[in-house]
Amino acid sequence: MRDIAYIALVSNLGDRAEYLALARRRLAALPGSRLLDASSIEETEAVGNVPQGPYLNQMVALETTLSSHALLDALHAIEHEAGRERTVPWGPRTLDLDIVMFEAQTISDPDLTVPHLELPHRDFWQRGIAELKGKERG
Ligand code: ADP
Ligand code: MG
Repeated sequence: MRDIAYIALVSNLGDRAEYLALARRRLAALPGSRLLDASSIEETEAVGNVPQGPYLNQMVALETTLSSHALLDALHAIEHEAGRERTVPWGPRTLDLDIVMFEAQTISDPDLTVPHLELPHRDFWQRGIAELKGKERG
C-alpha cells in the first residue's frame, strides 16, 4: 500500500541543522519511498524538567510503500546512525524521528500510535503539516 507519512524531525544536541539534513537524506533514500517536501525549520524551547538547549524542528512528507512498522524500524536505524542515546526520558537528543500522521492509516499498537498522541499539544507540528498540505495544493 502506498501512503504519505508526515514525519517530525527534531534535534537539540550537536550540529542540529546537520542532523536534520542527514535525516532528510536518509529518508529520501529509503526503499519504496520518495521525499515529497519539507517544512520550514522552527526552533522551540525544551519542555519538561531536564535542563537542555532549544530544539530544531522540521516536518517532512514521505510517500512510501513501506509498512508502518518497517518505517518505524527505519527511523530507529537513522536515529542510531545519528548517535542517538536514550538515557533520560524527555532528555536531549541528537535526532528524534516520530511518525506524526499518515494520510490514510490510523494505528494503535503497543509500539506505534498514529496519529501521534502529542499532535494535539504541539502547535509547531500542526503548523508544519499545514504548510506541507498547503504546498501540495499549490
Ligand atoms: P520520544 O519520541 O517520546 O521522545 P522515543 O523516540 O525513544 O521517545 O520513542 C519511544 C517509542 O515510542 C518508540 O520506540 C516507538 O515504539 C514508540 N512510538 C509510538 N508511537 C510512535 C510514533 N507515532 N512515532 C514514533 N515512535 C512511536
Ligand atoms: Mg521518538
